[in-house]
Parts: sequence; structure tokens; C-alpha cells
Amino acid sequence: MILAPLADRSSRANHTDSWRILKPEIKYDKCIRCMICWKFCPDNAFTVVSGEELESPNPRVAALEAPVIDYDYCKGCGICANECPEKCIEMGIETKMVI
Ligand code: SF4
Ligand code: SF4
Repeated sequence: MILAPLADRSSRANHTDSWRILKPEIKYDKCIRCMICWKFCPDNAFTVVSGEELESPNPRVAALEAPVIDYDYCKGCGICANECPEKCIEMGIETKMVI
């Protein structure tokens, strides 16, 4: 028996925005930019931007790199929201489902 992954291509090859039911949203006013969400996302659906690209009420936090969700690849699993220590990722209903 040959062991092999069931998926025939990586997650980055699949756009998931057409079937996502829940959609995470980062509340940047509470985000401390610890990047735990980025680390645990199973679909590598985050990009990392420089601190100046996003606002933060805390100047020390504002200098840090920040995670941005790439909705083309997010499947809405909620792992990021579950792992976020500040609980600043809210899972809402996806309103633009393509059926
Ligand atoms: S885990 Fe939460 S606090 Fe940390 S970077 Fe992600 S959204 Fe921000
Ligand atoms: S909901 Fe899941 S797939 Fe989407 S960004 Fe969070 S951990 Fe990644």
C-alpha cells in the first residue's frame, strides 16, 4: 500500500470563498499582533503586512507586523478565532456565498 495525501493539490490552489459559511473578522483595535492566528491557520490564509498599513490605538503595537486574512483562501473554520488570546477575531455569517 502506498501512503499519500488524499488531496491532489495544496490548499493554496483552492479558492474557498465560494463555499465558506462563516467569515472571520479581525478587530484591529484589540489585536496585539502576536501572530498566533497566522501560525495556526490550517490553510495559510493570512498575509503579513507592515505595521504602518493598519491602525492600532497602541503605538507600540502599531509598529509591529500585522496579520490580514486572505478571504480567497479562508474556509471559515474558526481555528484562528479560537486560538486568538485576545478574542478579537469575530466569526460572522458569510453574506456573499456563491451557489
Ligand atoms: S491571534 Fe488575535 S491578537 Fe494575535 S495577531 Fe491574531 S488577531 Fe491579533
Ligand atoms: S477561519 Fe480558518 S481558514 Fe479562515 S483564517 Fe481563520 S483559521 Fe484560517
